[in-house]
Amino acid sequence: MKLDARIPNGPIEEKWSNAKFEMKLVNPANKRKYKVIVVGSGLAGGAAAATLAELGYDVACFCFQDSPRRAHSIAAQGGINAAKNYQNDGDSVHRLFYDTVKGGDFRSREANVHRRAEVSVNIIDQCTAMGVPVAREYGGTLANRRFGGAQVSRTFYARGQTGQQLLLGVYSALQRQIGAGKVKMFSRTEMLDVVMDNGRAVGIVVRDLVTGTISSHAAHAVILATGGYGNVFYLSPNAKGSNVTETYRAYKRGAGFANPCYTQIHPTCIPVSGDYQSKLTLMSESLRNDGRVWVPKKKEDIAKHPDQIAESDRDYYLERKYPSFGNLAPRDISSRAAKEQCDDGRGVGPGGRGVYLDFRDGIKRDGADKIREKYGNLFDMYERITGEDPYKVPMRIYPAVHYAMGGLWVDYQLQTTIPGLFCLGEANFSDHGANRLGASALMQGLADGYFVIPYTLGNYLAGVPATSLADVNSAAFKTSETEVRARLDKLMSGTGKRSVESLWKELGHIMWENCGMARSKESLEKALAEIPRLREEFWRDLSVIGERDSFNQSLEKAGRVADFMEFGELLCRDALIREESCGGHFRVEHQVEGEAKRDDERFCHAAVWEYAGSADATPIRNVEPLVFENVKLATRSYK
Ligand SMILES: Cc1cc2nc3c(=O)[nH]c(=O)nc-3n(C[C@H](O)[C@H](O)[C@H](O)COP(=O)(O)OP(=O)(O)OC[C@H]3O[C@@H](n4cnc5c(N)ncnc54)[C@H](O)[C@@H]3O)c2cc1C
Repeated sequence: MKLDARIPNGPIEEKWSNAKFEMKLVNPANKRKYKVIVVGSGLAGGAAAATLAELGYDVACFCFQDSPRRAHSIAAQGGINAAKNYQNDGDSVHRLFYDTVKGGDFRSREANVHRRAEVSVNIIDQCTAMGVPVAREYGGTLANRRFGGAQVSRTFYARGQTGQQLLLGVYSALQRQIGAGKVKMFSRTEMLDVVMDNGRAVGIVVRDLVTGTISSHAAHAVILATGGYGNVFYLSPNAKGSNVTETYRAYKRGAGFANPCYTQIHPTCIPVSGDYQSKLTLMSESLRNDGRVWVPKKKEDIAKHPDQIAESDRDYYLERKYPSFGNLAPRDISSRAAKEQCDDGRGVGPGGRGVYLDFRDGIKRDGADKIREKYGNLFDMYERITGEDPYKVPMRIYPAVHYAMGGLWVDYQLQTTIPGLFCLGEANFSDHGANRLGASALMQGLADGYFVIPYTLGNYLAGVPATSLADVNSAAFKTSETEVRARLDKLMSGTGKRSVESLWKELGHIMWENCGMARSKESLEKALAEIPRLREEFWRDLSVIGERDSFNQSLEKAGRVADFMEFGELLCRDALIREESCGGHFRVEHQVEGEAKRDDERFCHAAVWEYAGSADATPIRNVEPLVFENVKLATRSYK
């Protein structure tokens, strides 16, 4: 597999400007002759589809929900970063770049990170111009708050529903193009394969989720913006439908899959409450601006009501361990610190798997109304789920899987290793390295969709004849359709007894226990032995109800879980070979006093996996070396 990152020459501050100038353009009059497929209508896909249509391309956009505005992006709570320095507290493009490279534990590509920091300032202008109701100060200027891994306030927000408001902006732009006939929207349609011809992506095969009809769609270029794969762990705050299917199918067609073991564990989720739970709920990182994290100092206090624990008996362990960043230490570090307290027997709530997030001091300082203004919907959500009022009793929180830093490998142009196949947003391996900083996913999705792909796609299409649109009746499409139908038949043919949900849950358990917050050679080898056994059981004992050619949610889910059954193994394999700790990838063998210990000599690279022809064949590991010329490789410290 050839991995040419196509990083432009020149100083880091000039790379993107130079690249934009050097990129080839498509004659405006010819743009309508190019057909572009965008799979995904979240912030990344929706922004790309709307912008490309505005530019004049003929766009088809696909999503599996009933409306593009239900993409998982709608769940994002806390905010979106931008290096505007409105607070005059020392922020700059370079600082955002620096914080991100450091926050990602030196496992991201410098040039991409810098571009995103540059573009961040345009995103906020774009969103406010579109009418997104971003929070404002009394005098009308845009408000900011702080997020993890930063000492400046650069996070823009709309209460605790930033994703929803941003997505409504994207959705309005998309609807405008749908109304104008420039975007053809296919909702409730699932992509099941990428079609290749002569080594290029030429279209996709999809299933209509209402009728079960399989059909093919040809394009000059295909863009995947299909979100993250956190649900391979079963329990996560991701939307239940979030999946790995489309990126995994692209991987099977030859796209490199980068760093699958980089998964983010978010420190502040509502703890698991029982065996029959199928979903977790996040409490945004923004809450740690005003909430203080603590556990009782003494084990005998864990069962006491928090009000009965004296101030001197509380351990504000993040403030103690990381005085410079305190409660806003980065997610990987805060999550591990919470686990450490609970492993030490000082966790609170059922099973001792919880720590307090306490707003007592914030409310005393600013008043309950101010706190309600900033986080009201999150407090309401917490109370609805737990029955406890967080204005009066501290929240109980615990880390959970949240975000996928790994994804399809893309070069600087956001193109995968397959010409004509691009990947945006959480679905690509992108700009976060081994740990994403809070409020940077929304920034990346909109940067990719609004500001990067409009240039890089044109650069690609300028070299593709408009007359070269593939024929959906050609052998390439027909073969792909036949394979898709055969797979659906195989899923339907099971006469077993186990539900998809129970198999998925078992996979999630294997993943979380052996490849979750802490991983070891031993646990990963155990997972790598258990997953193929479970996969075999999946195909032997699966029961899918309903019919193939009609509305069938059991079949949809089975297809996604079948991919997780293979992908989980790839993730664990990647974790096993990366014999270092970095960011969210914590190998217990590689630590210094509980902190991650990188091995830059051996692992300062992105690991890019190449499919070897079958689920049982060992995939090939390729590497893209990472070079740090602008931020010196150093041990991260938030102390
Ligand atoms: C609870 C929660 C809160 C968060 N809060 C924040 C925050 O405050 N700030 C921040 O920066 N980040 C936050 N994140 C992360 C952020 O929400 C996501 O990373 C981001 O929204 C992903 O956007 P996306 O456009 O890449 O993908 P998504 O929004 O996941 O969209 C994926 C799209 O792909 C489509 N799709 C997927 N598979 C298929 C298929 N096979 N066929 C057809 N269509 C398909 C879906 O229908 C959907 O339209 C949060 C995440 C969670 C879980």
